[in-house]
Amino acid sequence: MKENINQDFNDFFSGHIIVNKDRKIIFCNVYMCDLSGHPNANLLGTPISQYFTKASTIFIDSYIYPLLINQSYVQEMQMTWLGKSGKKIPIVVNIKLGADGLSYWSLYVCETRDKLQDELLKANEKLEAQSQELFRLATTDPLTGLLNRRELQAQAQKIAHRAERKSSTFALFAIDVDFFKQVNDTHGHQTGDKVLIHLANTLSKERRKNDLVARVGGEEFVLLLPDIDEENAFLLAEKIRTLIGKQSIENIKITVSIGLVVTRQNTQTDFYTLLTLSDKALYEAKNAGRNRTHIAQH
Ligand code: GH3
Ligand code: MG
Ligand code: MG
Repeated sequence: MKENINQDFNDFFSGHIIVNKDRKIIFCNVYMCDLSGHPNANLLGTPISQYFTKASTIFIDSYIYPLLINQSYVQEMQMTWLGKSGKKIPIVVNIKLGADGLSYWSLYVCETRDKLQDELLKANEKLEAQSQELFRLATTDPLTGLLNRRELQAQAQKIAHRAERKSSTFALFAIDVDFFKQVNDTHGHQTGDKVLIHLANTLSKERRKNDLVARVGGEEFVLLLPDIDEENAFLLAEKIRTLIGKQSIENIKITVSIGLVVTRQNTQTDFYTLLTLSDKALYEAKNAGRNRTHIAQH
């Protein structure tokens, strides 16, 4: 009878092992012997732990056996079987503890499933990276890496809502390089690009933690500064303007004009209006001789 049952088990395409109270193998079907690279006779009488990795053995001792004793079965335990020449094979194990004190192990190799899962994980990571890259492309300016106009507008909305809630004010600087066309005409477009990148870096360095810096046009930049009043906004604008005027980029000196607008406390002003107001102040600064800061009146 027993021999007949063994014969049946040997036709299974999954592992079946019977382990005695001393945790030694007393039956092992052909599938499992093949997976181990041992003839059946060699496995019989040997401790089951011998065929698992160290980590799995610890898991068996500290978790599986206590659980088996407690509830008589364990399901879907992920472990690692040591195959031929120490090859690590991921397996899933179900075990039933019989009334006779023997434990009945069913083992399923999940190499293919794990490989598929790995591939899915990798595909997911790739998609995640691509979507981050797409987001970066959609929200930033390729030359300087600063926020683009669309992203500035989106983030400005949030800053406006926060200012409303906190009854605080925020400022917007419209910064435009003076006579930038001359830089291009004299030194070439490529050098002009370098000047713009350098300027973008200076603006980024000067920004406070929550300030936004965007490139909104060719040589036009916008700084959005939450929680600042008009007096401090003007001081900061002047500090930035003076700093830029002192710098020399590729032996080229540039100056900027700044138009600034500060929101009124407890007064809603939409972003487009603020941009228009700061632009108007910038235009006045240009007309007044450039290399200066003008404050928008509203
Ligand atoms: P103003 O003081 O009135 O602002 O004079 P401006 O010469 O700076 O102003 P204008 O608007 O006449 O010229 C802007 C120049 O900026 C013209 C354009 O060639 C240049 N420009 C715009 N985008 C880029 C860019 O991406 N790279 C470079 N190198 N130049 C750019
Ligand atoms: Mg200009
Ligand atoms: Mg301009």
